[in-house]
Amino acid sequence: MEQQIKRLLSTIVHPESGRNIIESGIVEHVDLQNNRITVTLHFDKARDPFALKIKHQIEEILSTELALDKEAITVIIKEAAPHVQQPAERHTQTGGIGKILAVASGKGGVGKSTVTANLALTLRNMGYRVGILDADIYGPSQPKMFGVEDYLPEAERIDGEECILPADAMGIKLMSIGFFIKPTDALIWRDAMATNALRQMIHQTKWGGLDFLLIDLPPGTGGVHLAVISELKITGAVIVSTPQQVAVADVRRGVEMFRAEKIEIPVVGIIENMAWFTPRELPQNRYYLFGHGGAREYAEKNDVPFLGEIPIIQSVMDGSEEGRPAVGTDPEVESRYRSIAEKIVENMTKSC
Ligand code: ADP
Repeated sequence: MEQQIKRLLSTIVHPESGRNIIESGIVEHVDLQNNRITVTLHFDKARDPFALKIKHQIEEILSTELALDKEAITVIIKEAAPHVQQPAERHTQTGGIGKILAVASGKGGVGKSTVTANLALTLRNMGYRVGILDADIYGPSQPKMFGVEDYLPEAERIDGEECILPADAMGIKLMSIGFFIKPTDALIWRDAMATNALRQMIHQTKWGGLDFLLIDLPPGTGGVHLAVISELKITGAVIVSTPQQVAVADVRRGVEMFRAEKIEIPVVGIIENMAWFTPRELPQNRYYLFGHGGAREYAEKNDVPFLGEIPIIQSVMDGSEEGRPAVGTDPEVESRYRSIAEKIVENMTKSC
């Protein structure tokens, strides 16, 4: 089977060099396990413009020729640079974590959790080891986004320390407050239990070595933020916003919280979600339902990097409902997230 896969891959040619991807060494590794194929690609230059195209060709040819579901095929793209530094010194008994990225928003419902899930999957597709800590006590949605709502975290004793095992969500280590508290729990319990449960999740999860840990924070600024900030050394923060609410004080408050004295967490950038809507039957038209350009303007005025825009796309919503983030199924969403993730990696390496 491996030979057959390699033979199929050797029919794909890199448009620039004209050499096939096996012969030129772009295919670094092919892994076959339980009818799942993982192909790891290695490109010599950063941001090879043909990387995504080649990835889609591989998914296409393997799924057609081997009669496999596209979900059974994972293509990881590794690039020469920019790279995060080696996992830093920040060790707990649960293993080293390289960079910790908080994902925040001024308000609920702007797509913060959706962005977190898609960003995590994009970073994983770039070859990084990724974890998500879902700390959104008011609406922990990561388990649903990845279709692991029924996961019950187990504990394991390692070197005399009690560890909690995260869920494996498409190759991403996922720990969610949703595994511990249920939506039906009264709110008054939730706040009290949440801080405790979060503390445990932070220190006891067996992450097992990560390049990036993404934290899905609750919306706004509050007690959970302060708890997370004081328990973990966050490397940088991303703020998700829709165009219209940028004008209001929420986003500003978010930026100010991270930049406050003694907290001083670099704001890696702002992502504008739900930036416009394009109906399928009129692909050239963009309808700016929530206003236009507000996030970019805010970012420029306040010296915050602007990372990019994500339009309203049906596949994004479907992906959250079906437990498969859209980055894995929709090439347009994938390329938008790829560009945002590359900027985040670059900004974090530079400024954090
Ligand atoms: P938050 O975490 O900010 O509360 P969610 O990530 O839960 O927001 O998103 C709220 C709703 O909007 C979800 O139903 C989600 O599927 C949908 N959504 C988010 N971003 C997009 C998008 N770019 N296109 C279409 N639907 C989106």
